[in-house]
Amino acid sequence: MTNTLKIDALVVGGGIAGMQASLDLADQGYQVALVEKNPSVGGMMAGLSKVFPTLDCCSCITTPKMSAVAHHANISLMTYSEVQSVMGNEGDYQVRVMKKPRYVIEDECSGCRSCEMVCPLDLPDYDNEYGRGAHRVIYVPFSTAVPQKALIDIDNCIYCGKCLKACTTNAIDFAQQPEYVNIETTSIVLATGYKTTPYDAKKEYGGGRLRNVVHGMMVERLLAPTGAYGRQLRPSDGRQPDNIAYVQCAGSRDLTLGVDYCSRVCCMYAIKQAMLLAGALPMADITIYYMDIRAFGKGYEQFYENAKAMGIQFVKGKVARITEDENQNPILRVELIDQNSRVVERKHDLAVLSVGMLPGFDPNSMYGVPVDKDGFIKAPNPNISPTLTMREGIFATGTATGPMDIVDSIITAGAVAAEAAAYIQSHNGHRQLVAEQTERSVTHA
Ligand SMILES: Cc1cc2nc3c(=O)[nH]c(=O)nc-3n(C[C@H](O)[C@H](O)[C@H](O)COP(=O)(O)OP(=O)(O)OC[C@H]3O[C@@H](n4cnc5c(N)ncnc54)[C@H](O)[C@@H]3O)c2cc1C
Repeated sequence: MTNTLKIDALVVGGGIAGMQASLDLADQGYQVALVEKNPSVGGMMAGLSKVFPTLDCCSCITTPKMSAVAHHANISLMTYSEVQSVMGNEGDYQVRVMKKPRYVIEDECSGCRSCEMVCPLDLPDYDNEYGRGAHRVIYVPFSTAVPQKALIDIDNCIYCGKCLKACTTNAIDFAQQPEYVNIETTSIVLATGYKTTPYDAKKEYGGGRLRNVVHGMMVERLLAPTGAYGRQLRPSDGRQPDNIAYVQCAGSRDLTLGVDYCSRVCCMYAIKQAMLLAGALPMADITIYYMDIRAFGKGYEQFYENAKAMGIQFVKGKVARITEDENQNPILRVELIDQNSRVVERKHDLAVLSVGMLPGFDPNSMYGVPVDKDGFIKAPNPNISPTLTMREGIFATGTATGPMDIVDSIITAGAVAAEAAAYIQSHNGHRQLVAEQTERSVTHA
């Protein structure tokens, strides 16, 4: 089945940047379609615990935006959907979007989760809990997901039929096929975000084999009230850690990993997590091993000072290697930069790698939008117009353009909405002029 939609702006990616850009355009009266590849909007922010530097609850500030994009009269939200092709030229793009089958009829599902209760199979939740939690084969992606609609992991379904019987709205459809939507749009906004640098890439840090070496997003989930366990624990034995190490630049500013840039958020999220851990585990010792602390934003330096005042240890040192002892305690080999590069070995219960940011998507082949050598979307003049791309009518925002935090993602979302709105206006004005001229010449003939 194919539907057609005529809109002003197609926003690709439903993280905080894409949601904010959609809302800013829709509030001005433009027709927007927001396409998100995952079953829920929210992006990476939906998985965070609290945000620096205010320590606001992340769900509390993201969920209203998620709900607003779903209910805005000028936004057509398409989750679990992907752009298949982009044709046409500046100001007149034809885009084909595929809605992947959920095997649950979205309009019928009430999100009551009765199906989840009776489903007999659990699967590790890699998408949202990094393998630390589980979900059923039929499941609502997470507790604050928008839309609150179930989907079936069809590859692991044993077709027992229990969900069919439990569903009071007859929403289950094992025969569901992909649906296609043809979109005609004046502009496109790319908000495809980032993924974290792989935490298992560096063999010197155990290459992902050391059980008590985790990464920043795993700790976000442990700290989040919606996380799998609701408490802090070491993966190897479930014990609460007493002595935690943060390893900074574990993925950024590292030529051996091909990432020469600073990811800009890792210092601040490590400080944030250390403060939250200190609150949750008052007796724990927490040490952050860093090369430089980059506390660049408003209120960030004060946040760093507060962390020091709370007793978080900051050690200027480069972690060269991580091994483990017989109890799987990580042992860090550290070059102490401030002490004539003296090399020491320090034992901790848990080591957290402060992983950085990589681009989430390469838009070049599909959208004809080139990227910089770091893989993030290239702007013709990044100092003056950071939200323009090399292609007219296609704009970019948030971490799709480079590493940034939530505040800057929201700022660039506002900027991209302004750029796109001006572009839509000039095109619609141009179209109207051509239509008027054509009408006049027909009347005169
Ligand atoms: C461990 C950690 C902790 C952090 N803590 C904080 C913090 O406390 N405060 C702070 O300010 N920042 C923090 N950040 C940074 C924050 O996560 C980002 O700044 C923010 O999430 C960026 O939002 P975004 O919309 O640009 O990208 P994303 O959140 O990555 O959203 C992009 C969206 O696009 C979708 N997408 C990608 N490709 C496609 C495609 N081809 N088609 C359709 N959809 C697509 C993705 O599924 C995703 O939903 C933290 C980062 C990490 C790693």
